[in-house]
Formats: sequence, structure tokens, C-alpha cells
Amino acid sequence: MTKKVLSAIDLGISNQMVNPDAMNVIRKLQQQGFDGYIVGGGTRDLLLSKKPKDFDIVTNATPEMVKKIFKRNSIIIGRRFKIVHVVFDNLNFSRIINNRPAMEKHIIEISTYRSLKINQHSLNEYGKIMVDNNYGTQKDDATRRDFTINALYYDPIKEVVIDYHDGIKDLKKKMIRLIGDPEKRYIEDPVRILRAIRLSVKLGLDIEASTANYMEEFKPLLVHEHRSRMYEEMLKILLSGSSSKCIQQIKDFDLPKEVFMLFDRLFLCDNPDALSLRVLEKTDERLQTENAVSTIFILASLMWNMVNNSYQKLLPSGESPHQALMEAIFQNRGYANEIGITKNAYSAMTDVWLLQYEFENPTLRKIDRTLGNSRFRQSLHLYNLRNEFGEVDSKLNEWWNSLVESTDPEEKLTLIDNLKKVFQSSKPKKTRKKKAIPEHKRLDKAR
Ligand code: ATP
Ligand code: MG
Repeated sequence: MTKKVLSAIDLGISNQMVNPDAMNVIRKLQQQGFDGYIVGGGTRDLLLSKKPKDFDIVTNATPEMVKKIFKRNSIIIGRRFKIVHVVFDNLNFSRIINNRPAMEKHIIEISTYRSLKINQHSLNEYGKIMVDNNYGTQKDDATRRDFTINALYYDPIKEVVIDYHDGIKDLKKKMIRLIGDPEKRYIEDPVRILRAIRLSVKLGLDIEASTANYMEEFKPLLVHEHRSRMYEEMLKILLSGSSSKCIQQIKDFDLPKEVFMLFDRLFLCDNPDALSLRVLEKTDERLQTENAVSTIFILASLMWNMVNNSYQKLLPSGESPHQALMEAIFQNRGYANEIGITKNAYSAMTDVWLLQYEFENPTLRKIDRTLGNSRFRQSLHLYNLRNEFGEVDSKLNEWWNSLVESTDPEEKLTLIDNLKKVFQSSKPKKTRKKKAIPEHKRLDKAR
């Protein structure tokens, strides 16, 4: 393993391509006498002429020292390995809310070089690393990273890239190669199998032979992974911009069912869920055109048919439709928890589902409340998607979209006036069943 120091400019990258907040963090670290490099996806994607999702920074300063530099704008997080989040509040001039640019938080993650020393008592019964707060040198850190192309250290101030494992060669060959002995590296952390699949699909790279060969052997280890880690991996796949292809690859790879229960239920079976396939397609399209996507919309849409099936079963029970929907949402809570969806996320998804009812049953009284709901956008996306599948009244769907798109107050009022017409012509007339009056009440009435 020889350290190579290469000119960034010769490799076709420069600090002009780096996010200003990331530059700010690196400058401050270096001014205090510490290292500050971009590593991982940030450097890799720049070198592949792709726009990095984020810029992860690495330093020789401990988390506590980093915290001292960035003070109140930073927090130390993580248990398995402590890292620091530096938070920037930025104005987004392309998103205007109430005539003002929206305030958005941008987080830059800073980690400290990892050490090669792993205590035996930090490993669990399967040989997996559990506690990992030993700090090391840049060289150690490089050896601890997963793939050679993810172990490239870019200093955007000196404009150099440091390469210990021939990552640049592999990038040129468009190859994903594990650092070290694949057998050992997969036992240490089987999630690297999923990372190899995701990165190869997302970046259009091949997986080098021995890195690929051992994937098959060690995939059963993935069933022991903690559900929150698998949930994170599931989100990374959904947000990769190539989710359809990634899931197809996972299907071909024949992972144990328990690894991605939601994918298994929706896509890996003989009869995939058509609405969910469309969600993947739409999300990929948006990400490839650099449009924002919402995790809550994606999850709520993927689980919609489960909730809707429970809802349809509950409807004849005599409860009000709104109550039946609430009950259906409640019934699916356990499943959501099993696949790692947090209580907060499920509560946001609940809002998206409940708004479906409001879209389908609008009343003049509730329109404003519906429009002002913080989950309105995500819910409307799901409602539109259901319209594509003929699940909702298309006239009413058109009405909602016109109402949202209209910027003219007069036109809005006319649309609201029209609601009765649209709604009544589209809604199947309900014949209200007369409730039988219980015997004792009839007697009361007679008295
Ligand atoms: P993405 O574009 O999806 O963010 P990434 O490679 O940056 O891809 P991250 O999860 O952000 O993925 O990880 C940042 C870096 O941390 C990786 O590039 C790699 O160097 C290292 N890393 C992440 N996960 C592992 C792992 N399981 N084992 C070893 N190194 C890892
Ligand atoms: Mg990253």
C-alpha cells in the first residue's frame, strides 16, 4: 500500500465544484491546524463528473475538538462511532414561502480518522464491530473504508487527492473493489454487500470478481442486522435515483426475505404492487432531474395499498368511513414498526393518508384547513397517483389540482363556488340507511 498524492486539477476537479459550507468547514479546520478532507461519496462522485449527494468531511481532530471549533452550530452524535454535525441555516431563493426565501438547514458531517485497532470485546458474536471510538491516522482510516473508490481524500485548498488503495485506477476502470480481504470485510459488516449493489447500479460500475464472489456466501448474515440500519439502507436505495434498477438487482440477487421486508412484499413477489412500482419510477425521474423528493410521500405511497386494503375490509362494519380509515392506519402500525419506520414518520404518513379522505370528501368548511395542512403537497402527489390508477374521481381530482395551481383569487372563488357542481355530479349518490330505532327509544318517543 503506497500513498499517492495526486493533483486534483490533473484529475479534472477543483474547489469550484465543492459546496461553500463544506469549504467553510475545511478552511476552519485547517486554520486551527487540523486536517480537513472530503472523503467518500463527495470525492468519488466529483471524480466521476456526477453531482455529489453530500460532502462528508474527515479530520484528525477528535469530535470534542471539532465541537470546540464550531461551538453552538455543532452537535456530537452517534454511539457506535461519534461524529459531529455542523449545521448551517441557509436561505433558499428558489423556494419562496410567504414572499420570503425559505430557510433551510444544511448539515455537514465531520468524522475523525478511524483506527485499525479494534478491541475483541467490541465485536459481537458474528464478528461484527459494535463499539468503535478509537481514532487513528489517515492511513488507518483509508484501510477501514469499504471500497477503494470511497477511500480518496480530497483537500480542496491544496487541490490534492490522496489515494492509498489505487482508488483512482479503479475509478478509471469503473470498478468497485473492497479494500482488504473480502471474506473478512463482509463478516465485519455485511451491509457492505448492499452498498456494493447500490453503488454499482447508481454509478454504473462493475463489481470486481472477488468482491462479487463472496457476496453470495455472506448474504445470510444480513438477517442479523438491526432493523434501524436496514431501514436506513432501504431509504438509501429508495433515494438513490436508481431505485427501480436497484430493486431489480436485489430481486436477481435473491436476498433472504427478512432483509427488506417491504421490498419483498411489494416488489419481489410474483405480483408486484403497480402503484408502488410507479412511485419508484416517479422518484427516480425527480431525482435524476434534481427535483426534491419527500421520504414521507414515498413511504406513505408504498404502504398505501396495505392501509387501503384494511380500510376496504373495515368499511362494511358500519363505522364512519373516517373512523374506518383511522382504524386501518392503526392496524398497520405494527408492520411499519417492524420495518423500522419511526413513530414520528408514521404520524406524518398518517396525515398523508387522512388527507386522502378530505380530498375525496371535500366540504366548503374544510377546504382551507386541507390546503393549509403541512402534508398537503405529499398527499396531493399520492392522490394524483391514485387518480392515474383510476382509484379516485377524476373530475374531483382535476378540481383540486386547478384549485392549487390557480394564482388568481377571483378564479379560486369561482372554483370553490363550483365545488358543489363538480362534487355532486361526480359523487355516487349515497342512500343513507335509516338506522333502526332501538325498542326503548321508540317507547321514549311515544311517551
Ligand atoms: P452516497 O453517495 O450514497 O452518500 P457514500 O459512499 O458517500 O455514498 P455514505 O454512507 O455517505 O456513502 O458513507 C460515506 C463513506 O463512509 C463511504 O464512502 C465509505 O468511505 C465510508 N463507509 C460508509 N459505510 C461503510 C461501511 N459499511 N464500511 C466501511 N466504510 C464505510
Ligand atoms: Mg455520502
